Amino acid sequence: MNQPQDAATRRAVKPVICYPPETLPEPDLSLYAAARETAEKIDEVLVAPREAASIKVPAGHFLKMSSVEGSQVGDLNLFNLHDLSERFYSGKTRALHGTHVTTGDRLWSSFPTLRPMATVTTDTLDWYGIDEFGGSVHDVIGTRCDPYTGKVLSGTDYHHCCHSNLTRALADARELPLEEAERHVHDVLNVFMCTGFTRDTGQYFMKASPVRPGDYLELFAEIDLLAVLSACPGGDCSSEHTSDVAACHPLLMEVFRPGDGTLGNWSQPAVNGYDRSHGR
Ligand SMILES: [Zn+2]
Repeated sequence: MNQPQDAATRRAVKPVICYPPETLPEPDLSLYAAARETAEKIDEVLVAPREAASIKVPAGHFLKMSSVEGSQVGDLNLFNLHDLSERFYSGKTRALHGTHVTTGDRLWSSFPTLRPMATVTTDTLDWYGIDEFGGSVHDVIGTRCDPYTGKVLSGTDYHHCCHSNLTRALADARELPLEEAERHVHDVLNVFMCTGFTRDTGQYFMKASPVRPGDYLELFAEIDLLAVLSACPGGDCSSEHTSDVAACHPLLMEVFRPGDGTLGNWSQPAVNGYDRSHGR
């Protein structure tokens, strides 16, 4: 391998954070916490193992996603309830907040709206941090397990990958044909999943999730949401996915409505202010 003479010097250049988060609009977490104290449950759905389910989360409400019965990871899609073309943007959320999200981070929507769809208000796994392998929890680096990659890698047709589970659940929620629903399914927030990139080869890895029954991730809906969650066939993702091998468990989604007046001056974020002229 030919290296330039100044290779070491070039590698030693210090990195710069692409998007310093200091200039992002700050969520008022104490306001959300106070509102949550008054909140009452208005809806719930149990997501069966190796299946997905959907739930509506009105703006200003909370979505609690819990581990029940056993360690299990979930693949989450979020949509604007009134416009499926506005959907969760995993890549930009990663660019803004890092490879994994936790309390205080926002879940951003796609172009051209690019605005916070939801804010993470509680993460009972926030103690985990970044482990010695570079792994952490709730990633926005994976995509979702899917039958197409499975076909390429193993030649089999497996129908209960998160991609297919999300497709069926969205089709059912909106009474869409499967082919149309599938086009709206997007890269997920990997709830409870513990992942990273190997330090030596940069490969995407997963490991047994630290999630235990009772752990939960809670979001505050900044706009009216349709949330679709798949209980991944990988179970706790300690060994494999895209198969029926792993032990799988359900996940619980619950929606909570805060008491009247407890959200003070909070209002839904406006769609992105860029004028969309693109220089013409
Ligand atoms: Zn999956």
